[in-house]
Amino acid sequence: MHSATRSFAAPMVVRLTKFVKVPFRATVSLTRRAVFARDGGRCVYCGKAASTIDHVVPRSRGGAHTWENVVAACGRCNHVKADRTLAELGWRLHRRPASPSGPVWRVLGHRTPDPAWNAWLGLPEVDLPAPFPDSMTA
Ligand SMILES: [Zn+2]
Repeated sequence: MHSATRSFAAPMVVRLTKFVKVPFRATVSLTRRAVFARDGGRCVYCGKAASTIDHVVPRSRGGAHTWENVVAACGRCNHVKADRTLAELGWRLHRRPASPSGPVWRVLGHRTPDPAWNAWLGLPEVDLPAPFPDSMTA
């Protein structure tokens, strides 16, 4: 933290020792950032670094913009897949996409965590592509 003339060290993590009521939020907002975090920054099809989001069932084929149908993908897989279904390509998902849950998503769903928080949030080191526009129009 900085004042006009001085700098002060501030902790990166503050551990509360008393219960603090956090406003209840039943669902995690479906954002590009949160999808990348849920999928570990990796393409769900090939495991390489993800740079795009993909609708498993393409929107042009009636696929919904939901946690269960949106995944992180690399540009190559997204381009190859285009508007085809996994069955048409003979591709399979290693894990069924789902809405994330748990207290860590109160952070991940709304902001990019500082990498130094990963140990506190129970996250592996993940390289997330930047920038992270919060709105997804795909
Ligand atoms: Zn891929």
